[in-house]
Amino acid sequence: MQRYSNFIVLSLIAFFISIPTYAQLDLLDSEFMLEDLRKLSHDAAEGRKSGTKGAEAARRFIIKQMSDMRAKSLVKDYRHDFTFVNKGDTIEAFNIISYIKGKSDKAFLITAHYDHLGVINGEVYNGADDNASGVAAMLAMIEFFKANTPEHTMVFAALDGEEMGLQGAKAFLKDERIPQEAIVLNINMDMIGINDKNELYVAGTHHNPSLKPFLEELSFEPLQLKFGHDTPDLGSDDWTLQSDHGVFHKAGMPFLYFGVEDHQHYHKPTDDFENINQMFFVRSAHAILECILSLDANLN
Ligand SMILES: [Zn+2]
Repeated sequence: MQRYSNFIVLSLIAFFISIPTYAQLDLLDSEFMLEDLRKLSHDAAEGRKSGTKGAEAARRFIIKQMSDMRAKSLVKDYRHDFTFVNKGDTIEAFNIISYIKGKSDKAFLITAHYDHLGVINGEVYNGADDNASGVAAMLAMIEFFKANTPEHTMVFAALDGEEMGLQGAKAFLKDERIPQEAIVLNINMDMIGINDKNELYVAGTHHNPSLKPFLEELSFEPLQLKFGHDTPDLGSDDWTLQSDHGVFHKAGMPFLYFGVEDHQHYHKPTDDFENINQMFFVRSAHAILECILSLDANLN
């Protein structure tokens, strides 16, 4: 009898060890997310350069998705308009902002820039990874939080003018219609869809160490969530000021930035949907959502 039960216990252990502990990948609608990524990085959006027809096309698409999901608008028709000067030209730009009310008025600000480089010498720079990937993940998260009320209010901002100097983030912070004091954390996604080592970085815990335990306890096998790229020491590539989160960081807002290391398609006309690592992208978006859920449950 004793030997028999040992056998069962050992069999059960062997059984569980042999099952890979893959992270859950059914929280977000992956098909919907990939389709949004494909559309945002289609030639029809002409590279989404700020102030162009292509950016307006992308904007209309994002606004339609937000309104179809009945996310609330924080400013009129989701359009947060602002202007900035780039190389002597005044650019009319728009952030697209919506929110989902949580149980608390304290808010997480989830950002992803939708602008990219446009058309250069007749070549369309589609910016599939940079940053249709972040925007597509953000849209899928809106659907998730619409069905699963968060603790914190979730503000979703698709930012414009990132490629021209983080302009959308700067305009967001300056706007008095936005209740800035309610925001306790910025989560920025910028390039989360191409990596051949299954590595996604989260930068920011060097500046905000209290956030780290809520991320460290999570596992996303086979995706590796790596900490780093946020220290000023020589030799390490510091991403602290490299995307929109840098503006929020300078204003004293805690941030976490999710992204991949630079790759061969970065700021190249080959940053196309065809070069997205689809499985990696789906895993990244889910890992980021799980980080947000952990922070939502644990932060005040
Ligand atoms: Zn970018």
